[in-house]
Amino acid sequence: MQVATLKPVQHFVILLLSAMFFYSITHAQVTLNSGIEHCALKSAQTRSAPKAVAQIRKWNYNVNFMDLELWLNDLSAPIRGKAVCNIQVTASVEPGIYMELNRGYTVDSAFINGERVEVVQEGKFDLKIFSQIHHETGERLKLEICFSGWPENSTALFLHEHDTSQILFSLSEPYGCRDWYPGKNDLTEKMDSVVMRFHTLPYYRVASNGLLQAEYIMNGERITVWKHNYPVTPYLLGFAATNYVSYVDTASSAGMPVYIHNYVYPENETLLRTRTKQTVPVMKLFSDLFGMYPFAGEKYGHAQIEWGGGMEHQTMTFMGRFDYEIIAHELAHHWFGNYVTTSSWHDIWLNEGFATYLAGLSYEHLFDGYYWPYWKAQNIEYVTSRPGGSVYVTDTTDVNRIFDPRLSYAKGALVLHMLRWVVGDEAFFKACRNFLNAHAHGFAGTTEVKETFENVSGMNLSYFFDDWIYGEGFPSFQVNCERLINGDYNVDIQQTTSHASVPYFKLPLPLQFFGNGTDTTYVIEVDSRTVTARLAPGFLVDSVKIDPEMWLISANNKALVINEEHPMQLYPNPAGDHISLSYTGNPPLEWYFSDSSGRRFQRGFTLKERSITFNLRGMAAGIYLLSVIQSNDNRMFKFVKY
Ligand SMILES: [Zn+2]
Repeated sequence: MQVATLKPVQHFVILLLSAMFFYSITHAQVTLNSGIEHCALKSAQTRSAPKAVAQIRKWNYNVNFMDLELWLNDLSAPIRGKAVCNIQVTASVEPGIYMELNRGYTVDSAFINGERVEVVQEGKFDLKIFSQIHHETGERLKLEICFSGWPENSTALFLHEHDTSQILFSLSEPYGCRDWYPGKNDLTEKMDSVVMRFHTLPYYRVASNGLLQAEYIMNGERITVWKHNYPVTPYLLGFAATNYVSYVDTASSAGMPVYIHNYVYPENETLLRTRTKQTVPVMKLFSDLFGMYPFAGEKYGHAQIEWGGGMEHQTMTFMGRFDYEIIAHELAHHWFGNYVTTSSWHDIWLNEGFATYLAGLSYEHLFDGYYWPYWKAQNIEYVTSRPGGSVYVTDTTDVNRIFDPRLSYAKGALVLHMLRWVVGDEAFFKACRNFLNAHAHGFAGTTEVKETFENVSGMNLSYFFDDWIYGEGFPSFQVNCERLINGDYNVDIQQTTSHASVPYFKLPLPLQFFGNGTDTTYVIEVDSRTVTARLAPGFLVDSVKIDPEMWLISANNKALVINEEHPMQLYPNPAGDHISLSYTGNPPLEWYFSDSSGRRFQRGFTLKERSITFNLRGMAAGIYLLSVIQSNDNRMFKFVKY
């Protein structure tokens, strides 16, 4: 048994914001990137735990329904439980089936279809349930397991204190379900429905998934029954028990009312009644952007717990802090994470990157422009604070890496923002909705996201996902803008990358030119390390801003504007298939190219135009010289042909 006696932490610092800074949400407590910060805490919560063992197991059944009854009593006593599962055999593996349950529990008895069966506990988590009878694929069985005890070295069940009361709560993601109920502990299935019954002292109330079916006191104990009728994956089940008070906020989704059932500590009720109301406009926004709240037939909810962050238990988010961004982040998970769940912990960005980005979108839409640029700037700075790291998780045995706030959350979110920039707003939001509809109440991975965005945009996005999901690092741009004699600008873009896994990033690069009291923005398609463009802003340029609206993950960018007029200029350099010579004064009398051995070729004579463009297609890559003879000036230009 593990009992922590933490003093309640007062997290609720009120940020006084001028009304000019926002609308829709009033009295908001906003801490930028707290949606990410809370997950760093999630990671820290499990830091002391040994590396989780990735369960590579061939399960031979699906759990369709679970009726879980837990006797929690005064919360600190050992738990007693009974799990009744309706399972369907998917492969007749002899001699029985495996489940997972923390070895801190003793299995008191187990039954298959009412017949008592033998159970052996192996290792830390394995429960081997022997069947006397051979069961064929497709057969439906009723499995009943009675257990008691307390989880050893638990990373998923926590007993803390607030004010003068104890609180017991679960946090199962990613591998912790086995700490409080027997079952499968993976991402291969969703149960169709779940009933959870809790027995406590009358002093305590229990918050959980789905709809409250019954809550009554009988024989000196409070019995609370929750039923969830939507498909749910094991890590999204949860319960929290303490001396809660509860109240309901009403939101709407696609014109339908959605009730937000809040369970908070009595000592925080007054404050939190104002905080939980912030969910209402966010519910409407996400419904407008991504479709109706996927669990509108039941409810949404918050349960206050003793922990720094939030956890998106399906229809009942657990909240350690009622910060605006955490509220938005956890609600967002009900589209991305709960409705459609990552099919693998390798692709956790599908849960966390999307939820982080949706919280960002709530700044974009629900505030007046004050927070949105800050949100983008802070995330770009955070992601580019280190040169490497992929969004894709290669080591799923490391819980800290799965929930890495810089990569799975911030970079995942910014990659989505860039994807929106690449495909455009209309295609982006349509693809998001198509993705959700295609995998409703199921699982999906990076492959499915890529397919959906390619189908909607008509673009091949392999390069994008290779560079930004599987590759590491980010680009830095050096942009040199040199004024030509006719007033146009030769723009030379050089790209370097922070990590060798991506030699260059292909992306549309926005450049904003300022000068003469005006500005204009160009988008240059960057598809190599070096790109040259000739632009005609129509004014003398004072400065150039790279990616002014922060669509891209990039850092250490530099822009240089050269306005002095040279009597003669050769550009671009290095050059591809063409190179141009522009000049003032008299036209050249003669010009010729020579290679490094001194051999002359492509000789020419007087021309009238103020510029000449030479075709270099027949020339091998290398260093060349262009010699130009004017009446009063002889010049030699060295250039690189690539
Ligand atoms: Zn999250």
